[in-house]
Amino acid sequence: ATMPPLLAAIANAGRRGVLIKSAVVMENLSTIDTVAFDKTGTITSGRPVLATVDLTGQGLDLGHGIDTVLSVAAAVESLSEHPLAAAIVSAAHERGLSVPPVEGFAAQPGSGVTGVVGGHQIAVVSPHTSDTPAAVEVAELVAAAETRGDTAVIVVDNGAAIAVLALGDSQRVDAAASVVALTGDGVSTVLLTGDNAKAAERVAADVGIVDIHAELLPEGKTDAIAALHAGGRTVAMVGDGVNDAPALAAAEVGIAMGGAGSDLALQAADVVVVRDDLTAVPSVLAFARRAHRVVV
Ligand code: ADP
Ligand code: MG
Repeated sequence: ATMPPLLAAIANAGRRGVLIKSAVVMENLSTIDTVAFDKTGTITSGRPVLATVDLTGQGLDLGHGIDTVLSVAAAVESLSEHPLAAAIVSAAHERGLSVPPVEGFAAQPGSGVTGVVGGHQIAVVSPHTSDTPAAVEVAELVAAAETRGDTAVIVVDNGAAIAVLALGDSQRVDAAASVVALTGDGVSTVLLTGDNAKAAERVAADVGIVDIHAELLPEGKTDAIAALHAGGRTVAMVGDGVNDAPALAAAEVGIAMGGAGSDLALQAADVVVVRDDLTAVPSVLAFARRAHRVVV
């Protein structure tokens, strides 16, 4: 028996490493006019590296050194699946530090992590989306890191900001090509990120995205998609599922980059790109438009 054309198209995409969950998804893909990209882990490699550790006056007063800061931060981050967490844990391992056990771990999506390490309440959090009060000195260290294009997080010990960690991430080589292809096909692109505005602007400029929404909580990404809908756009959201699963679900089509994606992303997504290549996004949109024309 011959396969119906839409099923054949889905099977064909699957052979190229793009899993499309149903024929309805295929049809929705053919109507997309806007692609919203998550930044960390989607446009960027998602494998940031710890660049600097700056102790604050309070950190020094409490007797902290770079090693104690890194080991308590790594302790809490060892239970997080966030890319920033992996960078902090490997930096601690590279320095040969022991990573103590953590109790009462909790993650605040888009904001950071907390836990108790050696009786101290430790938090590693965003200076923008967490409600940690930032002293002038902390704000200056954060601004310096962000001006370099890095992501800054604050390490907090029993309510005192003891250090600022700066983490650098590199862009995926296929990100700019993906944006160029989408733009060429008349599809608009948007960047949605929980990261700071300066890091977002730098990445967006490098890959050619002009519409940027930064410092968003996961709900903020959903709100940004609702705003695009209100403007008459039909949206595909591309993410890695770390803090963007609600946005993947809110878009007409959620596309998970499956290489490093979380289980949550795979559940929320309509399309899973198994091959680690962002140019699969413009390809699958063009493919769906062609397949749809053939069927109709
Ligand atoms: P993006 O939208 O770029 O993928 P996220 O929404 O995942 O970013 O995270 C937004 C911000 O929240 C990060 O830039 C960081 O400041 C903070 N954050 C989130 N998770 C963690 C974590 N595990 N450790 C430290 N900071 C975190
Ligand atoms: Mg992300």
